[in-house]
Amino acid sequence: MDSERPPLKVIIIPHSHNDPGWLKTFEHYFNYQSRQIINHMVAKLQQYQNLTFIWSEVAFLNAWWEGAHPSKQRALKHLAKSGRLEITTGGWVMTDEANSHVYAMVDQLIEGHQWLVKNLGIKPKTGWSIDPFGHGSTQPYLLSKSGITGTVIQRIHYAWKQWLALKQFGDFKWIPNWSSSDKILTHNQPFDIYSIKHSCGPHPYICLNFDFRKVQGEYTEYSIKAQSITDKNVKEKSELLLEQYARTGSLFPHNVVLMPLGDDFRYNVIEEWDQQYTNYIKLIDYINANKDTYKAEVVFGTPKDYFTEIQKRLDQYPTLRGDFFVYSDIFSEGRPAYWSGYFTTRPFMKILDRELESNLRSAEIVYTIALNNAKKNNLLPYLKVLDRDFEKLVQARRNLGLFQHHDAITGTSKSFVMRDYGLKLFESLRDTVSIQQNAIQSLLFVNTTFTRPDQNIVLSDVERDSLEKLPKKTPISVEPGQTKQVSFNS
Ligand SMILES: [Zn+2]
Repeated sequence: MDSERPPLKVIIIPHSHNDPGWLKTFEHYFNYQSRQIINHMVAKLQQYQNLTFIWSEVAFLNAWWEGAHPSKQRALKHLAKSGRLEITTGGWVMTDEANSHVYAMVDQLIEGHQWLVKNLGIKPKTGWSIDPFGHGSTQPYLLSKSGITGTVIQRIHYAWKQWLALKQFGDFKWIPNWSSSDKILTHNQPFDIYSIKHSCGPHPYICLNFDFRKVQGEYTEYSIKAQSITDKNVKEKSELLLEQYARTGSLFPHNVVLMPLGDDFRYNVIEEWDQQYTNYIKLIDYINANKDTYKAEVVFGTPKDYFTEIQKRLDQYPTLRGDFFVYSDIFSEGRPAYWSGYFTTRPFMKILDRELESNLRSAEIVYTIALNNAKKNNLLPYLKVLDRDFEKLVQARRNLGLFQHHDAITGTSKSFVMRDYGLKLFESLRDTVSIQQNAIQSLLFVNTTFTRPDQNIVLSDVERDSLEKLPKKTPISVEPGQTKQVSFNS
């Protein structure tokens, strides 16, 4: 061992990657997977006092919160405050970083962060973006502006991964193209993907020994391979695992390893929590008891712990300017596979997204003016309408936010899931048009003697009959000399 190298430190980060829609709709995933995962998370983090967990998608947290018993809500809040549960990024979803427009990315981040401040009293400190197909340089800008100080990325071109490993540049200050002051400390995961098989070290078939999930009736490559840790095999297994960790550590000058322990919708059954925890804690306790022999320490932790640790050991980082597009992997097909089709696939849905964005922005502005005016002038009938519209405005932010998910605006979900997103966008498109109509009406007709505040007399110049149809112009006939026409250009 190189005596100059700092001792190996491994931070194991249990996590569950929850897509708000992909092979199933958001609601299906929530009802059949994510609700249970969050329930188990609350129970098991209380039971195992040194276990940690992270959560990213506020859309799922919100859905859980709405149906959770207040005692469970308090427990989750307490865990988040203590830092054992870290809410990473804290967006409504984990956005795509190629197709999403900055307006929608900001909007969903604000929606998520406001939810977290209101309900949990916390502000996220680290980012976690492990599944989007390439990483865009809007991210370091947005994250650093939002008070986030370190972020984790995963899917970048395999040649980049090789180069960063060769140079030991896996942690770097990432700078947007247009600004030098908004850089953010970024950790690139050195291996192909975030599953346990691909993250304990460079050898997937060794890592498979350390995925302890075993569910009755479920036969997978890990459930066949992984053996439980016992007093008899703990030394041999610890050394096998440490070798992988050490190889990962060798890719970084600080010798700290971030080891994600999870996969898509993991920890959905309660036994997996016990299986992963009880086996890992045996390995952890054994390695830490022989810390001097192995020159290594292993703990459960979160990305925040990782960034704290590396900054204790190292204060200079290389800088990197720009983005990580086009993404190409080499592991899924065994040859280079470029992920560029999603830039243009399902163009109709992408247009619908942009249309909702512009209508939402316009609705937010005119609604705010109208609400202030109605309050100032005590326009009670309008206040009722505006109050009802606020719920629709929030729903529109959330529907637009949901669509920024990396399997939504990208078009990589099943077609029935895409249709579900489309219906949500369409509903909010209609709502944001009607919010604008109501708000404008309240500004134009302060005296309600001649109008009914709940009846639209302000017309939109375009209309869509259905989700599948293109918008069409609404003809408005104006009699000469008799009508005053007011236009609102959104
Ligand atoms: Zn995903």
